[in-house]
Amino acid sequence: MTHHQIVIVGGGTAGITVAARLRNADPSLDIALVEPSDKHYYQPLWTLVGGGIFRPEVSGREEASVIPRGVKWIKDAVATFQPNDNQLTTRDGQTLTYDYLIVAPGIQVNWDKVKGLKESVGKDGVCSNYSINTVASTWKFIRELKEGTALFTQPAGAVKCGGAPQKICYLAEDHFRRSGVRDKVNVIFTSAGPRLFAVEEYREVLEEVAARKGVDTRFRHNLTELRPESKEAIYRHMDTDEEIVIKYDMIHVTPPMGAPDFVAHSELAGEGGWVDVDKYTLRHNRFSNVFSLGDASSLPTSKTGAAIRKQAPVLVDNLLSVIHDRPPVAQYDGYTSCPVVTGYDSLVLAEFNYEGRPAETFPFDQAQERFSMFLLKKFGLPALYWHGMLKGRV
Ligand code: FAD
Repeated sequence: MTHHQIVIVGGGTAGITVAARLRNADPSLDIALVEPSDKHYYQPLWTLVGGGIFRPEVSGREEASVIPRGVKWIKDAVATFQPNDNQLTTRDGQTLTYDYLIVAPGIQVNWDKVKGLKESVGKDGVCSNYSINTVASTWKFIRELKEGTALFTQPAGAVKCGGAPQKICYLAEDHFRRSGVRDKVNVIFTSAGPRLFAVEEYREVLEEVAARKGVDTRFRHNLTELRPESKEAIYRHMDTDEEIVIKYDMIHVTPPMGAPDFVAHSELAGEGGWVDVDKYTLRHNRFSNVFSLGDASSLPTSKTGAAIRKQAPVLVDNLLSVIHDRPPVAQYDGYTSCPVVTGYDSLVLAEFNYEGRPAETFPFDQAQERFSMFLLKKFGLPALYWHGMLKGRV
């Protein structure tokens, strides 16, 4: 049994950002980070990888290179939590005890919730940006399609970056147009949801984008099965439960996602299986020495790295307050951001808060498509991520 003052679960965007901020604030803190992977990925780049702009390798770095100096890396995965005993156990059978726990293992991609998906992804026109192992197939199948139907899906429930399923659809449409095959390709975007975007200001402009591009949008369509032999996508209509079949030549699937099983089955879980934290302080609603942020948390906002950039300083402030017997007064306002790529030279930078009101950074109307914002996504945000956020600087 090993004890650490602070144990962080997950060395992704949230775990590393918080670890860096804690070390910057107080280098004497004893912090351990539990993370099984050798690689750390900047996942927002996968949209651009799928669109053929970057190679997949560009999105990753060695995990060891992003873990802040002085933080002990436990290269293992958490299996179970025993929060009443301030303890957790790992897959390799280690037991760790802690004074404070930060839970940030991200969202689980449930490939097996669409019948036939796991077996077919990466082959026969079936692709997905949602794994480093499959993202290269997106660009391959977009590039190879010269005629027929290109289908793009968005599932029911929370996904990481709610706008990402349509970003790859717009990039593909732009590629078909630029390569002279657009008039022979039918572009269909299906969503289990009722509309393109939750926030009114951005929804309006995205509806115009889809209409201008001739993207056939179909809502309340929930993908349940793929039949790769006949190239058919099987949907259930969310309201009528009717079965709908759409034939495709290529299909980009955004798989259903959910809380990680080991979190959902633990005492830390609340509704939906997410880590049950106060939406302002990020402190657990029942275990006062537990905090959570990022995709695995119950925070009722769109799950993005941009949201974590604003959550991390709040969590760190509040954790340090609790350690020093002060009340945790810092508050997160639900800020999140979704840079909706609408083509190879345009982007709508959506930024909003818990109230669903725009919370924009720049002194211009961000609901307009802009080349400058595309450049921000392509060059500015990756640099900000690796050199700012993961170092605990921004
Ligand atoms: P992750 O970064 O996913 O990290 C979770 C970590 O926990 C992983 O390293 C994992 O190995 C580890 N882990 C898992 N299980 C265990 C366990 N049992 N024990 C210990 N560790 C474990 N965000 C934006 O801000 N802007 C965008 O434009 C954007 N676009 C996106 C496009 C795509 C295609 C994708 C896939 C994501 C996009 N995102 C975007 C979302 C963003 O990447 C995530 O919101 C962010 O990475 C979440 O951070 P996290 O730390 O919660 O989870």
